Amino acid sequence: MVKYDEMKKIRDELLAFTASLLYEYRTTNNYFPVAGEGSHDASIMFVGEAPGKTEAMTGKPFCGAAGKFLTDLVESIGLKRPDVYITNIVKDRPPENRDPTPEEIELYAPFLVRQIDIIQPKVIATLGRHSMGYVMKHFDLDLELEPISRIHGKAFEATASYGPVTIVTLYHPAAALYNGGMRDTLKEDFKVLKKCIKK
Ligand code: URA
Repeated sequence: MVKYDEMKKIRDELLAFTASLLYEYRTTNNYFPVAGEGSHDASIMFVGEAPGKTEAMTGKPFCGAAGKFLTDLVESIGLKRPDVYITNIVKDRPPENRDPTPEEIELYAPFLVRQIDIIQPKVIATLGRHSMGYVMKHFDLDLELEPISRIHGKAFEATASYGPVTIVTLYHPAAALYNGGMRDTLKEDFKVLKKCIKK
């Protein structure tokens, strides 16, 4: 199956994902699942946490205020948003923008793992601590896991099913919306991504 068909299969499965407790909340509110967006040949894949309201209303990841900042950050390293792939661990909006639960992360993670295997990115950039926790454990980096305040902007080498992959741990862009210091930190940390794709 070509990449496009495999990604479409994921979208179709998500639409019919009645096993999720978030399914009823989605359908009652006429929301969409948010599978992901961007190039299927991307070198960098960004993994956020879960869609917010704007994302669930449009079916597109990171299209609200945090998304605008993410786009600026991507452009700050000389890329365009369509060059990268952007997704979340949890593909449906949790009510009231609460954090995804460990059960929701477990339930939706296999979709993310399939997306990683299809796209085969050189770099996976995690956005926020939930995404960092899941992705680092998935790639057997448990021993390197520390609070995000200590390991933001770091690059960890790991092995994916398709070969080497670098995991870069970043703060969530929403954390920077009302915090100028955090904005500068994220901008600085993004430079690490640039180095990783040049390797
Ligand atoms: N926050 C996320 O983690 N993901 C989105 O898609 C939007 C906001």
